[in-house]
Amino acid sequence: MTKSIFKCIECSKYTLNTEKCPSCGGRVVSPRPAKFSIEKEKKYSSYRRQLFKNDLNTS
Ligand SMILES: [Zn+2]
Repeated sequence: MTKSIFKCIECSKYTLNTEKCPSCGGRVVSPRPAKFSIEKEKKYSSYRRQLFKNDLNTS
């Protein structure tokens, strides 16, 4: 069960085909959210910092 899923960059369909999209023949990429999670983490940590600041101000 180590099938990785790919996503077509043309029609945004998910596929198990590693070469190209079976429905439109477009390029497929593996939708790893590595960059997104870093971005999220940054946002999250600044949000936490803000919460922490608010906490200090109110107490
Ligand atoms: Zn496609």
